Amino acid sequence: MTYTHCPYCSLQCGMRLTGRRTPQVAEWPEFPVNRGALCRKGWSAAGLYGGRERLTTPLVRDRATGELSPVSWDEALDLVAGRLVALRAERGPDSVAVFGGGGLTNEKAYQLGKLARVALGTSQIDYNGRWCMSSAASAGLRAFGLDRGLPFPLADVEQADVVVLVGSNLAETMPPAARHLDALRARGGRVVVVDPRRTPTAERADVVVQPVPGSDLALALGVLHLLVAGGLVDEEYVAARTTGWADVRESVAGWWPERVERVTGVPADEVRALADRLGGAPKVVVLTARGAEQHSTGSDTVLAWINVALALGMPGTPGAGYGCLTGQGNGQGGREHGQKADQLPGYRMIDDPAAREHVAGVWGVDPDSLPGKGRSAYELLDALGQPDGPSALLVFGSNIVVSAPRATHVTQRLESLDLLVVADMVLSETAALADVVLPVTQWAEETGTMTNLEGRVVLRQQAITPPAGVRSDLEVIAALASRLGSAGVFSTDPEAVFAELGRASAGGKADYAGITYDRIRDEHGVFWPCPDAAHPGTPRMFLDSFAHPDGRARFLAVEHRGPAEVPCDDYPVHLTTGRVLAQYQSGAQTRRVRDLPDTGPFVELHPMLAGRIGAVDGEPVTVTTRRGTMTAPARVVATIRPDTVFVPFHWVGANRLTNDALDPASRMPEFKVCAAAVSA
Ligand code: SF4
Repeated sequence: MTYTHCPYCSLQCGMRLTGRRTPQVAEWPEFPVNRGALCRKGWSAAGLYGGRERLTTPLVRDRATGELSPVSWDEALDLVAGRLVALRAERGPDSVAVFGGGGLTNEKAYQLGKLARVALGTSQIDYNGRWCMSSAASAGLRAFGLDRGLPFPLADVEQADVVVLVGSNLAETMPPAARHLDALRARGGRVVVVDPRRTPTAERADVVVQPVPGSDLALALGVLHLLVAGGLVDEEYVAARTTGWADVRESVAGWWPERVERVTGVPADEVRALADRLGGAPKVVVLTARGAEQHSTGSDTVLAWINVALALGMPGTPGAGYGCLTGQGNGQGGREHGQKADQLPGYRMIDDPAAREHVAGVWGVDPDSLPGKGRSAYELLDALGQPDGPSALLVFGSNIVVSAPRATHVTQRLESLDLLVVADMVLSETAALADVVLPVTQWAEETGTMTNLEGRVVLRQQAITPPAGVRSDLEVIAALASRLGSAGVFSTDPEAVFAELGRASAGGKADYAGITYDRIRDEHGVFWPCPDAAHPGTPRMFLDSFAHPDGRARFLAVEHRGPAEVPCDDYPVHLTTGRVLAQYQSGAQTRRVRDLPDTGPFVELHPMLAGRIGAVDGEPVTVTTRRGTMTAPARVVATIRPDTVFVPFHWVGANRLTNDALDPASRMPEFKVCAAAVSA
């Protein structure tokens, strides 16, 4: 019997696994985050094992036949290292790039950043978490001085009087978390959902607001306008705990409800009712998720909602505040330990001389040898194979072909590389393009830590014996570093890597120095920052001060700009994308679990739109944008706006359509809205 955590989303539900060869999932009722509850994906997680598609030997593409053929580990690693060394000699260290994932353990994310900076000497490293929470991270850093998705335990939302979910379909993406909404309503609290689709989360809400995709920012400006006009701003809190209010107050002066209605499609009276509800509630929690964040204006949209929360006096107040619901399993930890283009471990910035000196000291290298800031995820992929871009890419924990925006273009970039190396457990769509595929362990076959959406560091413990022939990512990284002649020491023991990560993070914003595997086991996880062994960890942040040097939060004025693409004669509707209950991210894992229904992609549209184009439920419809086209069965539902279509992104297709317009601050692509044409 092993106590561990689900392989999927950021809730990181606790579970027990029995059986060394064919694991069975059982409840872990004492783990506080989910109290034994799991969603369908969690209950069926053992189905990840035993599939015939599991890779157990390295594969190398034969240049003559174009086929992938089995080789030994030594052959594969020697080939990869040899070609990387040759490329570096010919074109410099930035000719090699690394792409990580928000599902990797903290240990892997840390070691991947070290591989890039120390063994490869490249600045070209980023990860798919850039496409997940980066807009909220950017906004949180600017407003609060620190980015931790939820600055309080998730259960605290039960204490609020009103919870506002902006762009979150929590009831479908992480169902065990929805019990907190039910508990809040049972004691008289209210739930507000802001989403263009009437999702299963909206079904549990008291108020549902359905703005036009890409207009959440304008809605927040309108709410703040009304809070000011109604004298509902907590002036005492604003004066004591914030700066920048005067500018923000002035910036919302022109956002009267009728103007908000014109921009968002939300009736002015609904905007007024929402502002009254928030202004009259003693405790409000505002939560954003991908629906608000995956836009070219995502950072500003989050800042606009943070401004609302600050004006109400909520952040840093027990049972109230602002938070981001992270998505990927290690969406939080993945952005703290160095696989992001601009960061070093501990949420340190790579252009900070003191940070470079500290981390270089832990790594035993000269600070001047560390490269600087690299390209963000999409910009990195867009540069592949280009005259000034990388010629080789190492991919760990990511299925780029399915998850990248403007995916056809990105796939062409991958195909133009001199060398594509993918470490994965199955032949994902991205691995199928690779020159070298490295079969690696996953989830219950290995040990490592994850940091859940609350900033709680949890321990996934090895429960089963991996199949013969596979290696852990840590072993692959160490083997490559050794072949590259790296000066750094690359342990393959997760606990030793975690201890080193703790030293590298010491004194940083995300300080893990006081966290150990034993403490995590004993305490049901430990919240960062936790700077030393005697420190209890920090479940609730900002109670006394924010993380800026003056201890105050920042109001930051933002303006509505709208999406990069708006409907026109040729592309008359909005396209938005998202998830469904039975699948997770690119589906590389969940599409292979027999007990999870694989419906394939579909196009959700309103009966009015279906009638106009002659679409019939279950029959094919084609969606076209300026970047691509896809055809899938129609799902005709009255729960979506008539001017919007929705496509889930777990299958190849949806991201052929999406827009690569980037947020200027977070470099988040605009996954959540673009202009589209739809035909039967
Ligand atoms: Fe929990 Fe998320 Fe796993 Fe479902 S997918 S069991 S909500 S961690």
